[in-house]
Amino acid sequence: MNRLFRSPTSSAFLLRSCFSTTAGAATETVKPKLYPDSPLTKARDPKPKGIQWVFLGCPGVGKGTYASRLSALLGVPHIATGDLVREELKSSGPLSKQLSDIVNQGQLVSDEIILNLLSKRLEAGEAKGEAGFILDGFPRTVRQAEILNDVTDIELVVNLKLPESVLVEKCLGRRICGECGKNFNVASINVKGENGSPGISMAPLLPPPQCVSKLTIRDDDTEAVVKERLLVYYEKSQPVEDFYRSQGKLLEFDLPGGIPESWPKLLEVLNLDEHEDTKLSAAA
Ligand SMILES: [Zn+2]
Repeated sequence: MNRLFRSPTSSAFLLRSCFSTTAGAATETVKPKLYPDSPLTKARDPKPKGIQWVFLGCPGVGKGTYASRLSALLGVPHIATGDLVREELKSSGPLSKQLSDIVNQGQLVSDEIILNLLSKRLEAGEAKGEAGFILDGFPRTVRQAEILNDVTDIELVVNLKLPESVLVEKCLGRRICGECGKNFNVASINVKGENGSPGISMAPLLPPPQCVSKLTIRDDDTEAVVKERLLVYYEKSQPVEDFYRSQGKLLEFDLPGGIPESWPKLLEVLNLDEHEDTKLSAAA
């Protein structure tokens, strides 16, 4: 496996130094490289470069699930910035106090802190000789994408998509067992294909009998809150998608259903379906 980064300088260090200078100066000196190849062509032979992928997708789409399955399949870490924040909160690390204040006050964790945590994580991975990464939850803004672009060579950005109506139905079907804490989904989704677009079907994830009477719904899984969450996401993510689209790195993937329907299709578009045959057990 190749090294994580081709740049001889530590990318994590660069990530920090890019951030500490003013955004305009830092991002304009290094122009993003343009790739004539389509994401698909680049994905055809992912091994020689190491995997440096980003997963985009709105809340509820299952981005974390697919990113984590792919990372198991490809042998690269799945780095979710949400997990980095949670880990730091649990630790006695230098940022944990600052973070708990922010979270307790209901504020958003700043770009600066996220970048700090991410660069620490990349640095640690680099030291261990990790062969790449799949990023989940980052970048969220064009500015973050530009900084990332300056220090790493993101080769592919997978944008997982589901129609809004399906996302809402899926979120409204979520249930948590108040006793064992397991997550279930009672939504049974069956959208007929229209105007040439394929239908979408997702089986529910029903609880075992002992959990049925103890199911609870999260307070924020109401239709209004879910729709608002999606609206906020779309507004923020559109420019990030455009940024990667203009570089020819964006791979749009319309999920055809739940994991059983979507996983094989995803491998197919990533040209990893042969890979799957040999390493099926690794991702299961
Ligand atoms: Zn239970």
